[in-house]
Amino acid sequence: MASVLPEFFAGYAGLSHDSGPGHPESPGRLSAVFDVGERLVAEGRACFASAKAEEDLALARTVHEGGYVDFLEGLSPGTPSRAIDGDTRVGGATVAALKETLGMVRALAATPHGANRQTFLAMRPPGHHAHSGGGMGFCAVNPLAILCALRRESDPSERLAVLDFDVHHGNGTEEILRGLPGRERLLFVSTHRYPFYPGTGSGQENWEGGSGEGILDLPLPAGTDDEAYGQILEEIVFPRFSHFSPQTILVSAGFDAHRDDPLGDMALTEESYQRLGAWLKGSSAGLCAAFLEGGYDLGALRRSTMAFLSAWFGK
Ligand SMILES: [Zn+2]
Repeated sequence: MASVLPEFFAGYAGLSHDSGPGHPESPGRLSAVFDVGERLVAEGRACFASAKAEEDLALARTVHEGGYVDFLEGLSPGTPSRAIDGDTRVGGATVAALKETLGMVRALAATPHGANRQTFLAMRPPGHHAHSGGGMGFCAVNPLAILCALRRESDPSERLAVLDFDVHHGNGTEEILRGLPGRERLLFVSTHRYPFYPGTGSGQENWEGGSGEGILDLPLPAGTDDEAYGQILEEIVFPRFSHFSPQTILVSAGFDAHRDDPLGDMALTEESYQRLGAWLKGSSAGLCAAFLEGGYDLGALRRSTMAFLSAWFGK
């Protein structure tokens, strides 16, 4: 039986997105992750994904308010980046990067129901804090949430699940997903440090329907290590996914819970990311797409992405 090679999407335009001087969300992050993709492709374990064309930014209107998308569309190619909150900047290069990523999102949205497709999106800026009203927390728009909305639109019966393992709560994704139709066919799970930025995800708004659908926020204390995290994955996260039995799995893959990360103050190692990748390999028969989110120590990011993708994509 011919197997389909997993895809690595290298969002090259993301290299030019400017977060500001000295910002931890740097272009070097993307270069580190591209190294991993190049190695996997050279070893024949993945192929480079290419979207046919860059997408119109209007696609962001699927989940973001019109006024905010108008503002982004007004940034011409040469516009220097400007602050939209205390730690988030957008400019002309940001828009180019977003268009490239959204081109890939459009291609993934068109993946036929049930087709086996595994895709990792190495992109900048990250997306999971971007909410319906706009960007925040290094994020400009939310490509994962847009893909969710598009899949929901084209096939309302699809069972969609999202796992967010970034050290920060995926507040933007959760807020947008709560507003999508068909909540009985939608599962959102986030593991994150709490209390911590952005202040949400306490778990008090969790709910579970009869087929495992719902919201599952799993707040973790600072310093959580591989052993404690592995226990949460094995005892809570993976069984919930099994119960829900999703046809499509989307992942916010942030590697900032690594012990070497300068922002997360957690104690995970590559072992946890390997575990997540191995689980993903065994869980996804249909569309599975993981989006790069955080991870701010370049060495840890490179090793963690390698551990995750090696296990997910297999030998
Ligand atoms: Zn993060």
